[in-house]
Amino acid sequence: MIETTHCPYCGNDFKRVVKSKTKCKQCGDFVYKRTTLDGKHVVVTEKERDRIDAEHKKAPWISPKTKDVYHRYFVLLEYNKKRIRKILKKPFWAKINDKEAIWAAIKHYKTQCIKEWHYGLYRNAVSDTIPLLLEDKKFSKALDVCLSVCYMDHCNASNGNIKAQLSPWLKKNGEIVTHHLTQAIYIADEIGLSYEELIHRYRDVSEGIWLKLKAPIEPAKSQEHFSQRLLEVKKEITQ
Ligand SMILES: [Zn+2]
Repeated sequence: MIETTHCPYCGNDFKRVVKSKTKCKQCGDFVYKRTTLDGKHVVVTEKERDRIDAEHKKAPWISPKTKDVYHRYFVLLEYNKKRIRKILKKPFWAKINDKEAIWAAIKHYKTQCIKEWHYGLYRNAVSDTIPLLLEDKKFSKALDVCLSVCYMDHCNASNGNIKAQLSPWLKKNGEIVTHHLTQAIYIADEIGLSYEELIHRYRDVSEGIWLKLKAPIEPAKSQEHFSQRLLEVKKEITQ
C-alpha cells in the first residue's frame, strides 16, 4: 500500500515509490523509502527513517493496539448495527457487547471484501483481528491469522473488481513485511513452536487461502520465500 510519493522536505511529487535512498531533484535532499510496521510504503526524511528503523528493532509485536481497531470499525459498527444484530441472531432489544459487535463487524466486512474482490482491504481486516486475538490470549489462532497475512502479502493482495474482472492479485510478487514476521516469531515462541514447525504451519495456512481465494503463488514456493525472510528477521531481532 503506497501512502505517499511526495518529498517530505519540499513536496515534490516523485509519482512513484522511490528506491530505498533517493536524491530529490527539486530540493537536493535525500529521501528514504521505508515500510511502516503496518505495511505502508512511505517516503520519509532521514530523521523519520531512523525512527521507523528503531520501531522495527524494538519489535512491538502487539500493534496496532486493540483500541485502534475498535476505533477503525466504529463507523462501520454504527452503520451496520441492524445487520450486526442479524448476524448475531439477536432480537432488537438485546444488548450487544463491544467485543461481539467488533467481531461481527469485521466478519461482515471481510465477507463484503471477498464478494467484491477487495482482497487488499480483506487482508487489512484480517490483520486487524490479530491484536484482538492476542488480547484474549488466543495465541494459536493469532499465529494462523498472522501467517495468512504474510501469505497474502507475498501474493500481493490488492483491490480488484469483480464486475470488471480485474484481478485482486497483482502480477508482481509482494513482500512479507517485517512486522508480521516479527509477530509470528514472538507468538511461535509464546506457544513453544520451533522454527520448522512454524514453517510447516505457514504451509498449512497458505494452502487454505490458496484454495479459498485462488491466490497465485503455490504454497510450497511461498514457503521457501517465507523461511528465508523469517531467518533474516530472526537475525535482526537477535542482533
Ligand atoms: Zn524535495
